[in-house]
Amino acid sequence: MKQSCEVAIVGSGFAGSLLARVLAVLGYDVVLLERGAHPRFAIGESSTPLANLSLERIGTRYGLKDCYDLAAHGRWVKHHPDIQRGLKRGFTYYRHHPGQAFAERGLESERLLVAASPDDAISDSHWLRSDVDHHFVRGAIAAGVDYRDHTEITGAEFRSEGVRLVGRRGGADFNLGANFVIDASGPAGFLARQLSIPSGLDKTYTRSALIYSHFDGVRLMTDVVPGMPQGPYPDDWAAVHHIIDEGWMYSLRFDNGVTSAGFLLTPRGLASFNSRTEDPAALWREILARYPTIERGFGDAMPLMPIAFHPLIQHRLTRATGERWAMMPHAYAFVDPLFSTGIAWSLRAVERLALAFESAARDRRVPGRATLERYETALEAEADQIDLVVAGAYEAMAHFDLFAAQSMLYFATVSFAEASQRLSPTDAVAWNGFMGVGDPVLSRLPGESLRQLRKITRSCGDPGTREQRRGFVDWMTDSIARRNVAGLADPARHNIYPVDFDALVDSHQLLGMTRAQVVERLPWLRGMSPPPVFTRGSSLQNAGLAGETPQSPF
Ligand SMILES: Cc1cc2nc3c(=O)[nH]c(=O)nc-3n(C[C@H](O)[C@H](O)[C@H](O)COP(=O)(O)OP(=O)(O)OC[C@H]3O[C@@H](n4cnc5c(N)ncnc54)[C@H](O)[C@@H]3O)c2cc1C
Repeated sequence: MKQSCEVAIVGSGFAGSLLARVLAVLGYDVVLLERGAHPRFAIGESSTPLANLSLERIGTRYGLKDCYDLAAHGRWVKHHPDIQRGLKRGFTYYRHHPGQAFAERGLESERLLVAASPDDAISDSHWLRSDVDHHFVRGAIAAGVDYRDHTEITGAEFRSEGVRLVGRRGGADFNLGANFVIDASGPAGFLARQLSIPSGLDKTYTRSALIYSHFDGVRLMTDVVPGMPQGPYPDDWAAVHHIIDEGWMYSLRFDNGVTSAGFLLTPRGLASFNSRTEDPAALWREILARYPTIERGFGDAMPLMPIAFHPLIQHRLTRATGERWAMMPHAYAFVDPLFSTGIAWSLRAVERLALAFESAARDRRVPGRATLERYETALEAEADQIDLVVAGAYEAMAHFDLFAAQSMLYFATVSFAEASQRLSPTDAVAWNGFMGVGDPVLSRLPGESLRQLRKITRSCGDPGTREQRRGFVDWMTDSIARRNVAGLADPARHNIYPVDFDALVDSHQLLGMTRAQVVERLPWLRGMSPPPVFTRGSSLQNAGLAGETPQSPF
């Protein structure tokens, strides 16, 4: 068994495994260490268009066809039917009130639908993580990564000549030398403990507890509440969010009938329930009993594993890199699943670190200090930005109009990024700020929005006056206007937003393109032709971006 390697990656979630595989493709000698074994349950399942873009870029740049295939529901089902997933056509939100059935008031219902794709074939997917992560580990092994499971790393000693990792494997001591360590251990925080990195949580705003499981037999919302006006996609084939006074619930349906669901409860919300948190099943039932429509959907559903409870899901560190080490985003920070940022952010980090190692491959073999600092600065700003957007959304839950307006900030940010990346792709996009970081229009909006919302809600869930809410909606509409390429924040839509290519074409100037250029490249968005090819060393010209239809990368 190997005693040393160039890069050791601790943690074989999809982020650790995929990065390990890419580094192996680049010619690095990589050991991937996992304390458990695959397949194993993992949370964090709902993917997004920006995650798909990263997967496609990774797939085409490093020749990993499966990554490209997993980036669209149609290709996934066709090429990897054995890997379970769920069709995710968009983001669905309902506002529920205690003791009342969901009020079906046609287009005036407290319901928000935002389509993420125009059809099923190029749609996002929910990832059944036990399957997906297992797939990525197998891919890493096939690429030459030395994978060792049942290996818990418990110590790391950093010296000038390298890093020594120690731990336990199958009851015996384990010892490995490496030039560079990547912490992909998620919230387990392997390096945080080894290096005594201080927590940065006190500078963040979002706080929530989680109660969750996987369920069989969850009823469709469209069956529980019949007669809702038809949206651009079937309501349930989406990331479904139920907003409640105490927080919110996610409900993610897999194609095999299993549903992943959980409640995120604010500290005040959690305190309003009588059940002891040591008995999560009782707490689950108590929450359902307060919300009749959710109860009708979930009351007869069978948990497929014991309902679990975590009192606090946020974590945040004050460092993400150092001499000979770097962390993946989920090891560095986690905010909340609201807006499904985790997978996309993690994949962006895979891209960045892969590029960093790619640049270093010819000489010193590990990323230099300047690159690592750039990576850390990006993660820090992005974690702050996600926190502000999500904290604002929690404040906005005080009234559905506020919530719908705040969510427009998220959708404007990601749809602008997606359109820019699809229509004007560049090799350098991985280093672009995530969630509007670095964007002159979007950078400061989440902080300002949170301030405004807190004034309205007085930080205690006050819905404010009608004028205050109107004022906030108008302010948000104006604020996102220069990034609104998706026809968002339009009262005529009644909170139902299909993918709107006309709005996109009309917004060509916001994207720095002519109308004709956008029209010409629309097929790249529709999935009618494959996205441009990115290969190592490619330029825009040979990447098929000079106006001709891009070629299939595989
Ligand atoms: C409640 C919740 C819901 C979420 N929902 C979404 C969502 O809908 N969409 C989204 O995009 N993101 C979501 N996320 C975020 C998502 O879960 C993460 O972005 C994703 O899991 C990151 O993957 P990873 O590979 O970095 O880490 P992980 O999936 O956390 O994997 C870490 C691995 O490291 C191993 N490990 C830990 N310590 C050690 C050690 N000392 N030695 C060896 N191995 C070790 C673990 O066993 C594990 O396999 C959610 C997160 C939470 C908490």
